[in-house]
Amino acid sequence: MTKVPDDVRLDLRERARYFAELTDVGVPRSALAAPAPPAVAAVAKEVRRSPARTVTTSEGVELRDLEALRGWIGDCQRCKLAGGRKTIVFGQGSSQAQLMFVGEAPGADEDEQGLAFVGRAGQLLTDIIEKGLKIPRADVFIANVLKCRPPQNRNPEPDEILSCQPFLEKQIALIRPKVLVGLGKFSAQWLFKSMEPISRLRGRIGDYDGIKVVPTFHPAYLLRNPGAKKDVWEDMKVVRRLLAEDEP
Ligand code: URA
Repeated sequence: MTKVPDDVRLDLRERARYFAELTDVGVPRSALAAPAPPAVAAVAKEVRRSPARTVTTSEGVELRDLEALRGWIGDCQRCKLAGGRKTIVFGQGSSQAQLMFVGEAPGADEDEQGLAFVGRAGQLLTDIIEKGLKIPRADVFIANVLKCRPPQNRNPEPDEILSCQPFLEKQIALIRPKVLVGLGKFSAQWLFKSMEPISRLRGRIGDYDGIKVVPTFHPAYLLRNPGAKKDVWEDMKVVRRLLAEDEP
């Protein structure tokens, strides 16, 4: 039998716990049937080098780029958020981005404009990217775990996270950034496939299918707790270091 390396075994154990805990809160097992396969670094490297990437949906539809992915999402009715949203907020930025930010879900401004992170939290995120990291915002890609606004900005619910999961998975697979930044608890947990609190995930570098993951506080949390900005700055220093690293 093939020996499974320890890091993959640990990764699988964490994923199993994440999906099991979603099941505990009422998500049927059938909905959890197809989690992304674990990281295989060699394959990931190949994909990053390849100029044209294609991802395939569970129905066998081949998607060549983000535009095709947006077309596949269509006027999504896959979960209960469809009824209350104004716009599907796909996310925006460079399809060649080396750095990708993942937030939680659109708020009122985002739902109105159809763009991710354009409200007050978005302004702070722009400052983190442009003043902190010294990267033009247009050069990164910004997306969310959920593409539709939850009513009254409540927390994402497990069935919504699972319904939306293929969209973010495919965005990441098409962009293949070098570094993913998880903004806040829901994004960090999604990227780590773990139910651990953000306080435990912060400070660790995760691996999402061969891509480095840096979890940090959500900009909306920073607006309420400006003292935590210094922690985010520490995380952004890690991001800068990872971006500067040579390909293994
Ligand atoms: N908060 C998020 O998590 N995402 C947005 O797009 C806006 C606010």
